[in-house]
Amino acid sequence: MAGPIAKARHVQTRSRRRRGSSPLFRTALVLALALTSGLALVAGRSSMVLNGAQGSAPAATQVPVSGLVAGACMSFAPVAGRLDKTVFIDPGHGGVDPGVVGMAGGTQVLEKDLTLAVGTRLASMLRTDGYRVVMSRVADSSVARQSAADVVAGAMTASAVHRDLLARAACANAASASVLLSIHFDAFDDPSVGGSETFYDSARSFAPASKRLATDVQAAVVTALGNSDRGVWTDDQLAAPTLTSSGSSYGHLIELGPAAAGWVDNPSKMPGALVEPLFLTNPEEARYAASAAGQDRIAGALRTGLEKYLSGA
Ligand SMILES: [Zn+2]
Repeated sequence: MAGPIAKARHVQTRSRRRRGSSPLFRTALVLALALTSGLALVAGRSSMVLNGAQGSAPAATQVPVSGLVAGACMSFAPVAGRLDKTVFIDPGHGGVDPGVVGMAGGTQVLEKDLTLAVGTRLASMLRTDGYRVVMSRVADSSVARQSAADVVAGAMTASAVHRDLLARAACANAASASVLLSIHFDAFDDPSVGGSETFYDSARSFAPASKRLATDVQAAVVTALGNSDRGVWTDDQLAAPTLTSSGSSYGHLIELGPAAAGWVDNPSKMPGALVEPLFLTNPEEARYAASAAGQDRIAGALRTGLEKYLSGA
């Protein structure tokens, strides 16, 4: 495989690239480093989907973290069995930040919508399997509360993106999650490029566990989708798009990486991975990602990978 791929289509500044020899360029971590968010919305609708489908299941509750929008960092109890394990699911982007914009059969599809659709399906599956699930967001919103100054010309500012990603890590920590999974979709200039790739951070004390998680998730996704296996990568192998000078010297995904004073003061405390199951710039893959069948298949694969990891197998 040629290397991680991704194009920083919505990142203003790209000052660093660890893999200078790669002809491809990158966007994935865009997720982590880049855009997110938007105006605070109410989580009601998605919460009802999650709870309503489960009949008597308890209502979702918000994990107490300062500075969250309503409906962010929502905790859902298991609906069958009690495994005493919490899975943190982060649907990438949201609100003002659409993430990748793709086309599926003549219809525009937004990464933020597909990550939420997959994450919501995954949450229902895991709850049925006995896990408590905490979702960074359950509606089309940012995670951190925003002010008018956080959106300029319709896009989130760099500092707002940074704060939103920190809020996602803070949510996972406050939830005492056993594992963190951030869901994104990929993009590239060449629409023929497709496939799946997964990232983890190798600098953390629990890096071996994160690597196992990333490997299990990647294997399950590739098996389920039958598409190109672009591999498992460490986040410092990304041609990291940077938003600020602080970000450029960090070199990790904010949600997965280590502490860095003044930039990531409270890093995530549990093994984590960021998965990009498909490319939304590939028309065929975008169409599948936008379909109910595709979203169910992806969610099912993530469930398989997560549960293999959590079982210690
Ligand atoms: Zn993304």
